[in-house]
Amino acid sequence: MTTHEYDVAVVGAGTAGCYAAATAAREGLDVVVIERKTEQEAGHIACGDALKGADAFPDAIPKSQIEPSFTNTGVDHGRFEIPQHDTVLEIPIPGELAVIDRFDYGKRLIEGADRAGAEFHYDTVVQDVNQDDDGHVRGVRARRKGNPVEYRATVTVDAAGSLSLLQDKADFSAATFDTNVSYSQFCSAYREIVEVPEEVEWKDALVFKPTKRAAGYLWYFPRTGTEINAGLGFQMNEQPMKLVEDLRRDLRNRAEFADATVKDKLGAALPTRRPYDSAVAPGFVAAGDAAGHVNPTTGGGIAGAAYAGQYAAERAVRAVETGDPSEETLWKYNERVMDHFGTRYAGLDVYNVLSTAVDVDDLMGLLAALPGEKLAEALYSGSTQMSLLLKLQSAIKSFGYWRTIWTFYETKQLAEELMDHYGRYPDSPSALDGWQSERDELMDRIYETTGAEPKY
Ligand SMILES: Cc1cc2nc3c(=O)[nH]c(=O)nc-3n(C[C@H](O)[C@H](O)[C@H](O)COP(=O)(O)OP(=O)(O)OC[C@H]3O[C@@H](n4cnc5c(N)ncnc54)[C@H](O)[C@@H]3O)c2cc1C
Repeated sequence: MTTHEYDVAVVGAGTAGCYAAATAAREGLDVVVIERKTEQEAGHIACGDALKGADAFPDAIPKSQIEPSFTNTGVDHGRFEIPQHDTVLEIPIPGELAVIDRFDYGKRLIEGADRAGAEFHYDTVVQDVNQDDDGHVRGVRARRKGNPVEYRATVTVDAAGSLSLLQDKADFSAATFDTNVSYSQFCSAYREIVEVPEEVEWKDALVFKPTKRAAGYLWYFPRTGTEINAGLGFQMNEQPMKLVEDLRRDLRNRAEFADATVKDKLGAALPTRRPYDSAVAPGFVAAGDAAGHVNPTTGGGIAGAAYAGQYAAERAVRAVETGDPSEETLWKYNERVMDHFGTRYAGLDVYNVLSTAVDVDDLMGLLAALPGEKLAEALYSGSTQMSLLLKLQSAIKSFGYWRTIWTFYETKQLAEELMDHYGRYPDSPSALDGWQSERDELMDRIYETTGAEPKY
């Protein structure tokens, strides 16, 4: 068997893996990225191709290197189609947003990490972790073209995506690492890249449309005026959808896709849950989809993966420098994630929970009754207070949905309480249990208010 030794072994050449590898390699560490795909296929990832926050990505891979894959930077609003109520809501999206050529972007990330000094081993499927009896992870075991390969590393970064096999293989019973993970906290999604002969009228918008169930939606994201990423997904605790058939049906009913050709098809699962309570164990860190770093209301996970990759690597560097890859050393990574986006995603998860309990017709009726611009103001101002105008307009138009509005209002209060609690995320592993107990009590109140089945 071939054995390799590195400071850091990163599993997965996706967004989290590439940013982690680039960050650690820039600090002079020996880094390997182990990827199961071939060199040609690496970077080909199922995605809606919408990149939010493109203006402020971690600089381990300079923005100038990935920018050429931003094929549409003219998108400035969401277009919510609600056919049941013959309504189209247009809601401005703040911040920089780009629709990208995802394969090209994936290749550019790999090139960025490679230029930073990381080594890439393709065609190499990780099958197990190397773990001491006390639970310390010392690397991974893999197969390359049928041959066994072993990687020994001070820190192993799990960036293997949403269905990471590493976490099935490792024993985390002596660690804080979050193992409260089940299929019902995931979304199953599928997308096609579709080319149309004429430019679509909505090339400056991300188009969303609800599926028949509240916890699912279709999307049409314009990579360019004539190249559209069309897809759909549903939360896996709902009745399964026939993704390909349902997408085809919707495409057939839209005039703009009459003479369309399908250029690419891919499907995958993505976590639509709160971030892991802890994504560290001795010698081990998980980042990106492998640690639930996805916005659970939109399914957007590229930005979270990029930052988590960087933060994970920064702690890995510290662990290598001090020779101490313990949970205590790696813990700051959890704090960093919670501080930057984890708290917000945990708050948004409350709305994902709510969406599994609310009646889809009620929800659409309510959305259709609200004035779009004012709704955007309420959404993005960060305030719990609706403006008086919105209140009055809504009160008149939304008569009949008041019970739903009240549930939303109560849920929003609880989401804010939950975010306050995440703001007090512990600064050491020993305090995690107490913090989790209080959080779980809050979650019980959320299930009671929303009427949703417990998600965790
Ligand atoms: C259909 C769909 C639409 C989406 N739309 C959007 C969107 O519009 N915007 C957005 O921001 N996010 C979107 N997401 C989510 C986003 O794609 C992910 O959050 C993001 O790609 C996560 O990056 P990652 O690096 O954690 O994992 P991934 O990108 O999944 O990378 C994981 C890598 O690990 C490799 N790997 C896995 N197992 C092994 C193994 N055992 N051995 C070796 N290598 C392994 C894989 O081959 C892969 O290259 C979407 C997801 C899906 C499924």
